[in-house]
Order: sequence, then structure tokens, then C-alpha cells
Amino acid sequence: NHRCNGDGKESFKPPEIKFTKLFVNGQFVDSVSGKTFETVNPATGEVIAKVAEGVEADIDLAVKAAREAFDHGRWPRMSGFERGRIMSKFADLIEQNIEELAALDSVDAGKLLASGKTVDIPHCLHILRYYAGAADKVHGETLKLAGEYQGYTLLEPIGVVGHIIPWNYPSTMFLMKSSPALAAGCTMVVKPAEQTPLSALFYAHLAKQAGIPDGVINVVNGFGPTAGAALCSHMDVDAISFTGSTETGRLVMEAAAKSNLKTVSLELGGKSPLIIFDDADVDMAVALARIAIFYNKGEICVAGSRVYVQEGIYDEFVRKAAESAKSWVVGDPFDPNVQQGPQVDKTQFERVLSYIELGKTEGATLLTGGRRCGDKGYYIEPTIFTDVKEEMRIAQEEIFGPVMSLMKFKTIEEAIEKANATRYGLAAGIVTKDLNTANRVTRSVRAGTIWINCYFAFDPGCPFGGYKMSGFGRDLGMHAINKYLQVKSVVTPLHSSPW
Ligand code: ADP
Repeated sequence: NHRCNGDGKESFKPPEIKFTKLFVNGQFVDSVSGKTFETVNPATGEVIAKVAEGVEADIDLAVKAAREAFDHGRWPRMSGFERGRIMSKFADLIEQNIEELAALDSVDAGKLLASGKTVDIPHCLHILRYYAGAADKVHGETLKLAGEYQGYTLLEPIGVVGHIIPWNYPSTMFLMKSSPALAAGCTMVVKPAEQTPLSALFYAHLAKQAGIPDGVINVVNGFGPTAGAALCSHMDVDAISFTGSTETGRLVMEAAAKSNLKTVSLELGGKSPLIIFDDADVDMAVALARIAIFYNKGEICVAGSRVYVQEGIYDEFVRKAAESAKSWVVGDPFDPNVQQGPQVDKTQFERVLSYIELGKTEGATLLTGGRRCGDKGYYIEPTIFTDVKEEMRIAQEEIFGPVMSLMKFKTIEEAIEKANATRYGLAAGIVTKDLNTANRVTRSVRAGTIWINCYFAFDPGCPFGGYKMSGFGRDLGMHAINKYLQVKSVVTPLHSSPW
């Protein structure tokens, strides 16, 4: 039986909501229309706050501020070292407010408070500090050219960037997108997800306190088809960095193509395979598979949603995986003993439950879970299907919830073929003690990240992004700075001008 909301101890202390307006040109302002929208606590279904709703007119004002800050402001013109110093100060201020920031994401997205404080926000700090240190290490090349010429390249900030981010990791996404863009010297408009508008405003406030000039970071909350679409179509935005669903990614690219051909990078959906070979330690593999799909309630683009287990250990794995899912504690995200909070909102909750129904009608066997958990809030039992076939929709489509599909394989060739039998290519996991197996699978699986005998091992220095329909462009690492830079070639004759 799963422990659910209501039967855990009351540890909930709601954070004070200090910021609900839009952040434009260094000021908190109402939306042009004065309209607001409600953001809901998924643990209770109750409204937390009313937040200013930005639409095209608000995006216009934010882009104008970012344009002015880019074209005439200090940020792109100061040294990388100076930008890095200010970014470090921004990181220090975030560190002083970890508790409150983690609580905001917890109440807004149903994320575990304890994970926020010890994993997510520390990871955000690591990202910001990595790019603070990188800001003065961006440089071009010198070139000896044919004929009597020499050349060099200047790496210049690309300009005004639009960051469109999803709701599953509000803090991480905010910093993963803004930090390399700040290091590059860009200015930006961030459009958080409508489900989780709160923490981005707090970050904007702290950025201002740290000395990031007005107009460099603007935050416009609002909905995708209005605020998000306006940013993608804007003629004065030079680049869009988007994380979200594959369907929306297509719209983002289309809007960019139809407007000013701004550059686009897309980090989209996934259906990542976790491949477990006979030689694996079964207990370790079960623990890894559990984390890979149930952590953050399965609301992770790289979730290991397809688990392929080799036939020799399959039966033992199935038995242990079921026990392990049953002991996974679901409940109040503010309770430190809880391992899985509620799905982010009613829409996602219903979507996940409908996929579970679909799995049953497609003929998969429901091994464990499958139901709503408790009668309040958007909790779902950790769910495992067996007898899943590649062609089933539950094996092909991103469910974005705590639903594992378990499948059996015989040979390494079969595992590789099945792992690749999806339109996605975000990540993959391999569990084996055999180096040759690990190497072979690594080179054969088309995915942007491969984790061998681990999962979710993220680091700011390690590039992250997708193959195939999981998108293109990379977040994190020095690769991410490149998408916020452009290359200018400068050529001079070596001798007095030939003309
Ligand atoms: P989900 O369906 O899980 O909410 P989305 O990809 O729709 O995922 O959302 C990710 C982000 O994209 C959110 O900030 C959302 O508001 C935004 N978004 C949604 N539709 C559009 C659109 N047409 N143009 C730009 N951004 C959009």
C-alpha cells in the first residue's frame, strides 16, 4: 500500500509568495492588460497565487528592454571576467535563499522539498558557477590564410535570447538556459511554464540584487500559444532556446522560420531505454531502474521509461522490481520521508492515467500500481507494465509519469535494435559488468547521453541534448555557450594593402 497525501505527518509550511508580477527592465510590473492567472498546488489542488499573465504586448516590452540592454547596455560590453564576478554574486544570493527557492518549486510543481534543497538547487548553483568561471574563457582563433593575409575570429554574443522552459525543473531550467547566455554576454526574455511561474521571478529579483543590469534578464509568465508564440515570432529576438515537448518544438521552429530565421535549439521529449544485461547485479539494476522512472514522479525528459532486461535474469528482475515499486513512498512533497510527490497538475495527472488505461487495452500486463493514490491531490501509484511490445503506444510515446514498460530480450543485437526502435534519442542506460558490451551498445544506440552503470548523472560540464526527434543543440558544457555566440571573421593583409 502506498503512503499517500493525508496519511503522512503534516510537515507542510507554505512559502510566502513575494513575487507575482512580470519582471521587465529590472522592475516588477503588472501585465499590460492587467490580467492574471492562477497557479495551483498539485498536492492539494488549491490555488497558491494569482500571477500576472503576459501576452504579445508584454513580450514586446520585455524584448524592447532586452534589445536596449544588448544594443546600448553594459552587459555585452563588459569583460567576461566582470560578468563572471557578477554571476558569482548571483550564485551566492541563490545559496542564501535555497530553502525558500526549493519550497517555491515544491509547492508549485509538487517536487520534493528535500531533493530541492540537497540536489536541485545545489546543481543550479554548480551550473551558474561553472558558467561564471567560463565567461572569461570564450575566445576565437588566429588564422594564417592563403596569400598574404591573416585572420582571426571574434566570438560575439548572439543578441537577445528567448528561453522557453518547461515545468518539471523550474529552477534547473531557468539556470541551465540563462547561465551560459549570461556568460556569453547576451540579454534575454525567459518564458517560464504556466504551471510553475513562481521561482523564476525570485531568480530575477536576486539577479538584480547581484548587479545584473536592468533589461538583461526579463521574465514574462504566460501561456504557450500567446506569450511563448509571441517570443518565437518576434523580429527582434535573435535566438530561441526551448525545452519542452516535441510537438511544441515543431511550432517553435516553424515560428522562427516564418519570422526572422532566428537560431533555434530544441531539447525535446524522450523514451529512453535502460538495458540490463544478464551479468548485472540484479538488486543494483532494480534500484537503478526504479530511480530512472519514478524519480521526480517520472516527469523527466530522460526518464528510463523502457526497461529491457536480458532473459537470464528477467523473472528475478520482474519480481524484485514489483516489490521495489511497492515500497516507493508516495505523498506530501514537504515530508522528508516521501520519495514521490504529485504530478504537476490535473491535465498531466489525467494524461498519465489515460496512458495506463491505454496500456491495459493494448494488451500489456499491469504488474503493479496503475491507480490514483489517495483522494486529494494528483498522486499516481508507481506503475509497471510487463509484456510490452515495441509497437504499443505506451512503448513509443512519452508518458511523463511514473510508468515503467518492462521488456525481455535475448541477444545484444536485439537489445540495440529495440533500444533504437523509437523516434526519440535523448538518453540511454546500460547495466553490465562487461566492458565490451558497454562499449558496443554505447556506439550503437543513437542518443545524446549514455549512462553506464548509473543514471541521471548530470554535471554542468557534460553536454546534454538529443538525437533524432529529441531535438538538437546542447545545453550544459562549453557547447551550450556556443549557441549563444556567433563567429565574426576578421581578415587583414600581412603587407601594405595589395590594392
Ligand atoms: P507540456 O505539454 O508538457 O506543457 P510544452 O512543450 O507545451 O509541454 O511546454 C513547454 C513550454 O513551451 C512552456 O513554457 C509552454 O508555455 C511553452 N509553449 C507551449 N506552446 C507554445 C508555443 N506554441 N510556442 C511557444 N511556446 C509554447
